[in-house]
Amino acid sequence: EVTMPRPTRQRVMCVANQKGGVGKTTTTVNLAVALALHGNRVLVVDLDPQGNASTGLNVPHHAGVPDVYDCLIDQVPMEEVAQAVEGIPNLYCVPATIDLAGAEIELVSVVARESRLGRAIQAFPMEFDYVFIDCPPSLGLLTVNALCAAQEVLIPIQCEYYALEGLNQLLNNINLVKAHLNPSLDVSTILLTMYDRRTRLADAVEQDVRNHFGEKVLTSVIPRNVRVSEAPSYGQSVMTYDPGSRGATSYFEAAQEIAERGAKIGVGA
Ligand code: ADP
Ligand code: MG
Repeated sequence: EVTMPRPTRQRVMCVANQKGGVGKTTTTVNLAVALALHGNRVLVVDLDPQGNASTGLNVPHHAGVPDVYDCLIDQVPMEEVAQAVEGIPNLYCVPATIDLAGAEIELVSVVARESRLGRAIQAFPMEFDYVFIDCPPSLGLLTVNALCAAQEVLIPIQCEYYALEGLNQLLNNINLVKAHLNPSLDVSTILLTMYDRRTRLADAVEQDVRNHFGEKVLTSVIPRNVRVSEAPSYGQSVMTYDPGSRGATSYFEAAQEIAERGAKIGVGA
């Protein structure tokens, strides 16, 4: 039995990158499942109106289902909205429906507009070891809410030519939130995704990212693997869809690293 040490205090991780298609949702879903399968209590908050994390975890999120919008705008308690993920004990998901598309605008005029999500998570009576927030591909108020709710940011970076473009904008926003709204925020984790060993470019991007971010970059790298992209159409993570695939084993290793780092740096100590 493999061990994934549980953190001594809740770790809220915001999975962010304003670029679409870099692996935010895939990373959220698979890390969450990996950690939950190894004894952690995990909550996924789907903060993207597209609802891909909800789909990936097979959690109903059609129009009319109570969702994260209700928590943000109408301050409905999160426990009334969260759903247990079928087949994975200890894993829960706060889904996103199409309603959430309106939240970006509606949040502008509400009280405490940046801290609604953080308050909702903190008021959740159930205890979780990990809360993963799957951000939309933008830097608007939804992402700001996620950054205010988290202590850690996990940035997935796709190993391609334009990978680092736009990253400064994300880092600037993170620094602004840290300076004005959430001093305990930290970019703790960078994960290289969709790595294609056959290209020299992927290797160059990896070196760039490692030089720039040092120890924040996980040793584990997620390869491009067709099983990863197939899994959501079966309402599964790759961890359960094909546990022996390279996609699953690499996400498993990444989850283990995150758990061990958390224990080592005394997150929660
Ligand atoms: P984001 O949430 O950043 O928009 P996604 O996680 O939805 O990105 O990933 C974008 C697309 O790439 C999806 O179709 C997903 O299935 C696919 N994908 C993600 N990671 C991998 C991978 N390691 N190998 C193959 N396909 C992947
Ligand atoms: Mg996504």
